[in-house]
Amino acid sequence: MSSGKLQYYGSKILRNRSREIDISSEQEFLHSLLSDMFEILRFERGLGLAAPQAGENVRVFILNSEELSLKGHSVFINPEVTTSGPLDKDEEGCLSIPGIYEYVGRPYNAIITAYDISGERFTLDLDDYAARAVQHENDHLDGILFVDRLSPIRKRLVKKQLSEIKREYGPDSRIL
Ligand SMILES: [Zn+2]
Repeated sequence: MSSGKLQYYGSKILRNRSREIDISSEQEFLHSLLSDMFEILRFERGLGLAAPQAGENVRVFILNSEELSLKGHSVFINPEVTTSGPLDKDEEGCLSIPGIYEYVGRPYNAIITAYDISGERFTLDLDDYAARAVQHENDHLDGILFVDRLSPIRKRLVKKQLSEIKREYGPDSRIL
């Protein structure tokens, strides 16, 4: 069973490398996890959410397909992401790091191959913010947070806010 609680900066779960899912043998777990994840995403009005943010270290993330052009796909299981193109800077935030919005440099293009809930494999060729969102969520599966990708100066500037989040939200508590 998944805990279904949003994990905040400071939670160890956000820092682990997540394992792959066996889609056919883990259907029940996957359905319960995805239902928790979509609930959190809707409640928090987020753009995307990775499984570690919902307390599970598995390679799954969801994206709001109404806000991003993803050809209708919103569930990405065992994704593989290849990036290319020029470095693009744009603003990012993260539900696990409330109140911090920073410009992050990432490649402009991304090709993602993943599986949907029925085990169907698909590939999307993305650019701009959809490519950025996929890279942000995929980072979560390797324990990487967007604040890790800031310049040393920006990192120093958000350090205090990060320790405040750690203190306020605790290691894995949810404030409603
Ligand atoms: Zn995030």
